[in-house]
Amino acid sequence: MMRIILLGPPGSGKGTHGKRLAEVLKAPLIATGDILRHAIAEGTRLGMAAQEDVKSGRLVADATILGIIETRLEQKDAQSGFIMDGFPRTTAQADGLAALLGDRKIDRVVNLVVANDVVVNRLRERWLCGSCGAIYNLSSAPPRVEGICDVCGGKLTERADDRPETVRARLEVYERETSPLVAYYERQGVLRNVDASGPAATVYAAIQDALGRAAV
Ligand code: AMP
Repeated sequence: MMRIILLGPPGSGKGTHGKRLAEVLKAPLIATGDILRHAIAEGTRLGMAAQEDVKSGRLVADATILGIIETRLEQKDAQSGFIMDGFPRTTAQADGLAALLGDRKIDRVVNLVVANDVVVNRLRERWLCGSCGAIYNLSSAPPRVEGICDVCGGKLTERADDRPETVRARLEVYERETSPLVAYYERQGVLRNVDASGPAATVYAAIQDALGRAAV
């Protein structure tokens, strides 16, 4: 099993492709955004602490996120491999991850490359299932019945942070805090760039190439 990180701005397809890879590879998907949204919906202490940052598109503190990851990596299903979506997002988080993994190395970092205007348009049309987290796009991947999840019948909602003004803030945060990770993982020789601007099937095929066809 592989240890894989999906890197890329909001709307680059980390969630969509991460979910599919997790199914195909039978590896756990560790998505910090999903964990935070779940905590917020449940009203846990973590959720209450993170709520304002998530709503406004700011990053949650590194120490908080590393605490979540440490607990998650201790679980049995994450011992031999995982797919990470939305983590790490800062160099401090990447250093923290390396320290938690010790001599277990990251095998691949797939960098999903897409222009900002494409992302802004995609996020304007993104809907999520509130129950199972399935992701839809009103023009390119609409649900069969409007407002209802194809997978579980749950109700579809828009993410509060997908509003255009919040998306712009998230893109700035990505540029400033997260994009240095491209060079960080390039130096380690594990980074592969993938053009993520096309349709999902094309992007997924390119991700398979980046991971090595044998693996997927
Ligand atoms: P995402 O679903 O990955 O777009 O994450 C949604 C929001 O959750 C982000 O805009 C941040 O506020 C927060 N978040 C998710 N992952 C992280 C992380 N690794 N570090 C800091 N904040 C995060």
